[in-house]
Amino acid sequence: MAIIVQKYGGSSLADAERIKHVARRIGACRERGDDIVVVVSAMGDTTDELIDLAHRMSGSPDPREMDILLSTGELVSCTLVTMALRALGHDAISLSGAQAGIRTDGSHSRARIVELDTQRVRGELEQGRIVIIAGFQGVTGEMDVTTLGRGGSDTTAVALAAAVQAERCEIYTDVEGIYTADPRLVPQARRLDEVGYEEMLELASYGAKMHPRAIELGAAYDVPILVASSFVEGPGTLIHKGANMEARNRVRGVAADRNVAKITLAGVPDRPGIAAALFEPLAQEGISVDTIVQNASLERTTDLTFTVARTDLKRAVEVVEPLSRSIGSQGIVTAERLAKVSVVGTGMQNAPGYAASMFKALYEAGINIEMITTSEIRITCLIDEEQVPNAVQALHAAFRLEEEE
Ligand code: ASP
Ligand code: MG
Repeated sequence: MAIIVQKYGGSSLADAERIKHVARRIGACRERGDDIVVVVSAMGDTTDELIDLAHRMSGSPDPREMDILLSTGELVSCTLVTMALRALGHDAISLSGAQAGIRTDGSHSRARIVELDTQRVRGELEQGRIVIIAGFQGVTGEMDVTTLGRGGSDTTAVALAAAVQAERCEIYTDVEGIYTADPRLVPQARRLDEVGYEEMLELASYGAKMHPRAIELGAAYDVPILVASSFVEGPGTLIHKGANMEARNRVRGVAADRNVAKITLAGVPDRPGIAAALFEPLAQEGISVDTIVQNASLERTTDLTFTVARTDLKRAVEVVEPLSRSIGSQGIVTAERLAKVSVVGTGMQNAPGYAASMFKALYEAGINIEMITTSEIRITCLIDEEQVPNAVQALHAAFRLEEEE
């Protein structure tokens, strides 16, 4: 008998009826004979609501308290799903992250899993139970509750799938799979039957909704991940090794990320050590810096621009402002309303012309490019946030993504 790990997102569990629907789906899967481990997110917008509440108590809530608070969202849904399953006559048990053996480091709100002790989960499966686990959370060696970062239940699910050697990790959500672009922006967007880990990692990091660390884990442990809808039956998208290696249409998807802000330090003295002095403290604060551009030096000063997640902007400015003064720069300027649009595809490596086609499509749509970055299989342009729908539509059309591969 195979073990299947299923994960249900917040929208699939938004109210009592939806929870019962999910329980019926899980029950039906169990009746087909597999062992089932289920990972759940918090109901609907619970996590956002809890964050809101916390900020009404304090301008900067203590990270440890915050993690315990947020972990309760997933506890609510895992117990309710379990009750619904039992009401249907299935033997099921809920486990918190800690009970499921998920040990993390101590970085609150962005903890990483360091060890997964599957003894309890395996024991419950051996008793014939369906195991329902609270996603997004773990516990440190000191028994402090941690959370894995927004959207972290995907990572819980894939980590568990790897640890129990599940045949597959199924991620159920409110969309029918991974699309060539966000179907709300591009009606012609097409569901992909399959996509490789590398491509999915780029898509997930640059806007397609999935926790990128889940994909990294999937790739590292070779766990096939199926993304499908919990609302309608359908084939979904399988993320796995060696998908469509030689796809004819070599751009696979267009992603957009609106969580982008930019910081410019003007008139930075042009001498060794400045970049290190700036980016080391940001890294220590756990702020990841993305695109970095340093322009040519005029009269021994340069302008240094980099992007951070918009949600990190405030913290980043707090770090950079005093540094900017101490290194003698002329000051900092920030811009918040930015977005990244990216085209992704493994076929782009070793094939020229993709960047030019992208820039041309954006130019023809009247969109100004502020910054550009690339990886081997991705080209990203930083643009004005308001231009995202335009840009995504233009790129989808330019690379003819509506056409079957
Ligand atoms: N409930 C958490 C969030 O909204 C984790 C998750 O949904 O995966 O970010
Ligand atoms: Mg959620």
